[in-house]
Amino acid sequence: MNKRTALVVFSGGQDSTTCLYWAKREFEEVCALTFLYGQKHRLEVEIAREMARKAGAAWEAMDVSFIGTLGHNALTDASVLMDQEKPAGGVPNTFVPGRNLFFLSIAAVYAREHGINHLVTGVSQTDFSGYPDCRDAFIKSLNVTLNLAMDEQFVIHTPLMWIDKAETWALADELGVFDLIRNETLTCYNGIPGDGCGHCPACKLRREGLETYLAKRGE
Ligand code: ZN
Repeated sequence: MNKRTALVVFSGGQDSTTCLYWAKREFEEVCALTFLYGQKHRLEVEIAREMARKAGAAWEAMDVSFIGTLGHNALTDASVLMDQEKPAGGVPNTFVPGRNLFFLSIAAVYAREHGINHLVTGVSQTDFSGYPDCRDAFIKSLNVTLNLAMDEQFVIHTPLMWIDKAETWALADELGVFDLIRNETLTCYNGIPGDGCGHCPACKLRREGLETYLAKRGE
C-alpha cells in the first residue's frame, strides 16, 4: 500500500471518533478497527460501525473477548457494579487490565497484514482516569516493542495525549464534527448514546469537558 493510510483503534466513543476524524484530516486513507471484548453494551459496536460508515472509513470488528475473561471489571462483568468514583490510590473497577496492550498489539499485527504502519489511539494522559495504559510512557515503550517484535516501523499517533476533555471537544469542533460527536457517539458506561446517563464516571468526565468548552465558546 503506497498511500498514507492510518488504522484507528475505534470504539465509537467521543475520543476515538475525534481521532477518526483527525486521521481523516492527516492521512489519505483511514481504517477503523473495533474490538469486541465482552462489553456489556453491544450497542457500542453498532454505533462504531455506523460512525465509521459516516466517516467513510473501512471498518472491521474483531472478537478479543478473552481479554474480558482474564479479570473482573465493571465493563465486562455484569456482577461488578460501576464505580461512581475512583478508589483512592487505586485503579477504578472499569479498568480492564492489559486492554490497550492487547488492542495496540493486535492492531499492529492487523496493520502489518494490510501494509499499514500508522496506528492511531485516543488515549490521554491528561484525563487518564487512573488507567496506566493510557500514559505516554506506556505508548512510547510499546511502540518500540512492536517495532522490535515485527521488525517494522510503526508509528503510534496519540492526538489526545496531552489535551483534556474540553480541548478534545474543541478539536472535534475544529474538525467540523462537534454535533455529530456530541449527539451520536457512545461514551457512557451505562450504554446511553449522546449525553449519556449523566452520572457514570465517563459521562461526568465528558460533560465537565463539554461544559468547560461551551463556556469558553461563550454559550
Ligand atoms: Zn453514563
